[in-house]
Amino acid sequence: MAGSANRQRRGRTGVIPPGSTIGILGGGQLGRMLGAAAAQLGYRTLVLAPDEEAVAAQTASSFIRADYQNRIVLDDFAAACDVITYEFENIELDPIDYLAEKVPVHPAPAALAIAQDRVNEKSFVAALGGRTAPWAKVSTLADVEAAIADIGAPAILKTLRFGYDGRGQARIASPADIAAAWSAIGKRPAILEGFVNFSHEFSIIVARGADGSMVSYPPPWNEHRDGILARSSLPAPVEIARQWSEAAVLAGRIADTLDYVGVLACEFFVGSEGPVFNEMAPRVHNSGHWTIEGAVTSQFENHIRAICGLPLGDTGLTAREVVMDNLIGAEAEDWAAALTAPDAHLHLYGKTQRPGRKMGHVTRLVR
Ligand code: ADP
Ligand code: MG
Repeated sequence: MAGSANRQRRGRTGVIPPGSTIGILGGGQLGRMLGAAAAQLGYRTLVLAPDEEAVAAQTASSFIRADYQNRIVLDDFAAACDVITYEFENIELDPIDYLAEKVPVHPAPAALAIAQDRVNEKSFVAALGGRTAPWAKVSTLADVEAAIADIGAPAILKTLRFGYDGRGQARIASPADIAAAWSAIGKRPAILEGFVNFSHEFSIIVARGADGSMVSYPPPWNEHRDGILARSSLPAPVEIARQWSEAAVLAGRIADTLDYVGVLACEFFVGSEGPVFNEMAPRVHNSGHWTIEGAVTSQFENHIRAICGLPLGDTGLTAREVVMDNLIGAEAEDWAAALTAPDAHLHLYGKTQRPGRKMGHVTRLVR
């Protein structure tokens, strides 16, 4: 197979050369944009996803529609790939561990195990000196009551695993909301977090190579609506700029400690004492979509470069100001209007529209 020939070719230098095949687990828009970046660099991509509508398949060289548990499928997938990555973290660990025994998987399963469990994530980052919201692990209604007595309200209850875009979360404004919040998240193991009174949200996106080289993007100001990212803009306001270096040092420490390979995104709140770490994503991130046109090298290209052992690209801004707006649900129907601004770049993901669904984004550059 092409995969095994390439594995021999890769050999001594650790470089997976253009022409090789990159496996992508997951069928969403992040995989779609990774596929486009990989194609530009001369790689083939093979997407594995169970989704009926796998929009990543549209920019991939090939697509296998199957779930992640079938070992025969995983064997074929591994045989066809020179390196494997994933475009979302809500995937069980055992298929990833299984694949990692056969083919290099980046980021390594250990990073995924930390990032996909909110308690692991917060404990890990606190051990590295990061600041987090006060939190408690809760498994029963009584645990939530005890945690509220300790941490206080307002607070947010979040399922331990598999939450995204504000899903699997319920706010507790006062103790009277506890039972309803516990039911709302399906009475599942969760984390209770004290509410952080932040002035702004931002993210640090780094790319790290297997040789330890690292690059970091300037931080966008991220504005959310209903728990979903609505806008990322740069340069960030002074409140964020003041906390940039402390947050970037922490993100770098996280990546180094995990011996991380690929793009890592860390979300922060601007707190009164300094940056408050919220969560990390072991993958390319929505708050980095602006980098496609707004940075010299996009997060997608740098992820491909990192996992293939190529030198990392410059992360500097290409414009004075960059603003990325997500098109959520029906907002994507206005796609033509988005093209009327002189320096606007429209991205549509080819998805069937549903309320609250990320359908595309527009990036505007001010030169
Ligand atoms: P998701 O996995 O859905 O992105 P997050 O933990 O990032 O989950 O929460 C989504 C959004 O909810 C955050 O970007 C922020 O706006 C808000 N939020 C989450 N946790 C807190 C908190 N402890 N205090 C205040 N706001 C929060
Ligand atoms: Mg988040």
